[in-house]
Amino acid sequence: PGEQAEPDPTKKTLVVLGTGWGSVSLLKKLDTENYNVVVISPRNYFLFTPLLPSCTTGTIEHRSIMEPIRNFLRHKKAAVKYYEAEATKIDYEKRIVYINDESEIKGATTTNEVKFDMLVVGVGAENATFGIPGVREHGCFLKEVSDAQRIRKRIMDCCETATFKDQSPEEIKRLLHMVVVGGGPTGVEFAGELQDFFENDLRKWIPEIANNFHVTLVEALPQVLPMFSKNLIDYTEQTFKEETIEIRTKTMVKNVTEKYIEAEYTDAAGVKQLDKIPYGLLVWATGNALRPVVKDLMSQIPAQKDSRRGLVVNEYLVVKGAENVWAIGDCAIANYAPTAQVASQEGAFLARLFNQMAKTDEIQEELSLLSEKQAVAANKELRDGIFGDIKELQKRLRRVKQMGPFEYSHQGSLAYIGSEKAVADISWFTGNLASGGQLTYLFWRSAYLSMCFSTRNRVLVIMDWMKSYVFGRDVSRE
Ligand code: FAD
Ligand code: NAD
Repeated sequence: PGEQAEPDPTKKTLVVLGTGWGSVSLLKKLDTENYNVVVISPRNYFLFTPLLPSCTTGTIEHRSIMEPIRNFLRHKKAAVKYYEAEATKIDYEKRIVYINDESEIKGATTTNEVKFDMLVVGVGAENATFGIPGVREHGCFLKEVSDAQRIRKRIMDCCETATFKDQSPEEIKRLLHMVVVGGGPTGVEFAGELQDFFENDLRKWIPEIANNFHVTLVEALPQVLPMFSKNLIDYTEQTFKEETIEIRTKTMVKNVTEKYIEAEYTDAAGVKQLDKIPYGLLVWATGNALRPVVKDLMSQIPAQKDSRRGLVVNEYLVVKGAENVWAIGDCAIANYAPTAQVASQEGAFLARLFNQMAKTDEIQEELSLLSEKQAVAANKELRDGIFGDIKELQKRLRRVKQMGPFEYSHQGSLAYIGSEKAVADISWFTGNLASGGQLTYLFWRSAYLSMCFSTRNRVLVIMDWMKSYVFGRDVSRE
């Protein structure tokens, strides 16, 4: 199919926002022949987020976990339009999405409107900062490829600056203090990867920093990894201790400046104290917040006014209070955790739903044609024949319409915790299996490898693993 193919006026226009876990899983399974499909996203690739923490230290190169959306869309049966742009506003009553080209190169047109009959919102979430001053200016997030690249550069910058001629001892300590805020899986995995980088490579390549390089994980709650079972939380904390990663739980960061963070904790006497913690690198991983385009859409729909965390959807993932608008993934609230697992299952569910809806429309059209034919049929024999066909079609229609609501099937939680160890809470036939250690690490590796988007990604990731195993990670600062 040609890229420039005009939309088919007999088909509905389905607009999909985002090229993340939810939207790509939908597009993978969607029969694109049934709709005029338009995809809008500022990112022209899919990103395999579970391996993003490994990109911060160069264990894996970022391009190995990216899959160009163009490459994937060109294999679809019918042409899909893709616009590299951000949806800035959704007018659900007028059924228009306003889009903006945010890239560096601007054409004569940078803003536009896209009309839709059906809309899927899969724009994910932003990084939460809870309005804490200084986070955006001085911290690094870990959500996108650019974040991982920035962190990788900063780690090396801190190490090189710490070894600058006549650097003072306090400054060396500060520069080599790597602080991670947020003890969810993102923070834990990053802390583990960073400590590995130090143990396996940095320590050998820059021995001067060996005594001062230090990773601290700060968490407001009493424990890290709250979604894992208690024994795995203990195992993680114990492993971090052995890896010499310091965990500071019950410590809430309140302010961030260029060189230190201010964190509140309660001392042994029960008195609240404010601690100044100097840092060289600050990675901020405190979870998700709403994107402005989602917040704006929610403000237009009365049924969404009480929701704080995202678009509330029903059991068919329809945005409550809006017709013909569906939401999936991190921007949708369906009582599941904001994970890739949930997003991809939601996307696949919508693809099935849309494929069935198209079939239903097709059958209904055929039925009305047959009814007309039956009404003008010349003789009884012909009428009876058509009646039989109608009965058959009605049976098919009932079958097609019988699609149950979305049901999430939890496969388990997995996280890498450093020094070739991982933790896993797996849903097993007989119940739950909680395991941690090196075997789990092998499982973690093979599970993530099998989940990679394409064979190309899989091969690249294996090559990266081998490369860093044989030659060590690359410590050049780009
Ligand atoms: P995303 O995958 O974030 O995709 C959102 C898409 O929308 C992107 O393409 C973005 O460019 C696009 N977009 C943004 N704004 C707009 C706009 N205005 N208009 C149009 N498009 C827009 N989950 C797991 O289950 N297992 C894991 O191991 C795991 N590891 C993770 C590791 C890290 C470091 C991170 C950050 C997350 C991890 N997650 C993991 C969580 C998982 O990545 C998310 O839950 C998942 O990405 C959500 O999918 P989504 O489609 O909703 O959003
Ligand atoms: P999260 O929401 O899971 O954890 C954030 C943590 O930051 C919380 O424990 C919170 O108490 C803490 N926090 C918040 N404000 C703080 C402050 N001011 N000071 C100190 N601590 C503070 O966030 P995440 O780890 O980014 O994960 C986001 C989502 O992605 C989750 O649903 C998670 O399950 C998913 N994810 C999964 C994996 C995996 O399965 N391996 C990996 C990464 C992310």
